[in-house]
Amino acid sequence: MANNIVVLGAGVSGLTTAYLLSQDPANKITVLAKHMPGDYDIEYASPWAGANYMPVGKEGSAHHKWERDTWPALKEITEKYPEAGIHFRGTLIYNRKKDQETDTGKWFSELTQPNPWYKDVVPDFKNVPSDQLAPGVDNAQEFTSVCINTAVYLPWLVGQCIKNGAVFKRAVIKHIADAANAHHTGQKADVVINCTGLSSKTLGGVLDDKMYPARGQIVVVRNDPGPMMSTSGTDDGEDEALYIMTRAAGGGTILGGSYQKHNWNGIPDMNLANRIMKRCIDICPSLVKKGQGIEGLDIIRHGVGLRPLREGGTRVEKDKVDGVAIVHNYGHGGFGYQASFGCAYTAVSLVKEVLQNKSRAKL
Ligand code: FAD
Repeated sequence: MANNIVVLGAGVSGLTTAYLLSQDPANKITVLAKHMPGDYDIEYASPWAGANYMPVGKEGSAHHKWERDTWPALKEITEKYPEAGIHFRGTLIYNRKKDQETDTGKWFSELTQPNPWYKDVVPDFKNVPSDQLAPGVDNAQEFTSVCINTAVYLPWLVGQCIKNGAVFKRAVIKHIADAANAHHTGQKADVVINCTGLSSKTLGGVLDDKMYPARGQIVVVRNDPGPMMSTSGTDDGEDEALYIMTRAAGGGTILGGSYQKHNWNGIPDMNLANRIMKRCIDICPSLVKKGQGIEGLDIIRHGVGLRPLREGGTRVEKDKVDGVAIVHNYGHGGFGYQASFGCAYTAVSLVKEVLQNKSRAKL
């Protein structure tokens, strides 16, 4: 018996969930979305992400499990499918204790601690000896992570889903229950998976007022400094961040950033852009030629994305709205890629529960 499934949203959360579900030929999947890979829009977080794997989930939490479970999948894709646009990259993390109470320091508190849970997940983890730390840095670690070229990876996910029979349709849905009537077969969907990110705040039938943005501004440059790096904070304000990552497959280097909670402004702030570029060169002089400042950066574009944060954490759970079975998978803040497979595995198991109940009801 076929299962009619609608995935609402084509960001990394929707596409990863659709990709896993599409591996079962019994699932007939429609992916519906206002924005698709190729679009750049302030309502669409996924294209703006770096994106890399720098775990931030607190040990013992569901978030920890989701990030832990995602690494093997990203590793496998990196090794098996070079066309997916992911590569391994050396990573350096710098911690300053003085950032502990700032927004960025709290965001990165698990990432920056000397003995994190992820040391047993990522390859090559080691603490940097204290006599090699730069002034002001209290501890640092290095490991091998991945950097995802979102402009290649998101279309790759679309391609995998299409190969497995999924159908993609543009649509703007006002109420979550309406999505059940948009399945490509014309039949009503058995289940709708809500992967609308920040828009879950305004989507009818969801209206989740726990959702809010953390604005991330970036500069994409052609310069290639080598390893990725990130710090616990900066001296330019507690919601300004500092990270550098070079994307696979010629995707350029992302210089970040900011973590501005409740800020919805989609226009790049050029003063912030200057601070971002200056900070990145200060911490990584090899970004530019010797003696150069920000004039040595070859800018591809400035960008802003809104991380879909949720008070109380990501929502991956079953729901029923106007008689329609829903599985939510939204609210992934700044970790949507690094938790993508973990969250999607949970969402898929909830979809299976819904479908089993449907089969039982028909007996
Ligand atoms: P989105 O990508 O926002 O997708 C939402 C989808 O729902 C879209 O297709 C949209 O059109 C659709 N939709 C919404 N409402 C409707 C509607 N009513 N009708 C139809 N369709 C609708 N994460 C990492 O893991 N690593 C990183 O290094 C990283 N870096 C980041 C850097 C920046 C600057 C930013 C902004 C984010 C970063 N993130 C990172 C976070 C990551 O980008 C997000 O967590 C992730 O993209 C969220 O994906 P999503 O699919 O849930 O939402």
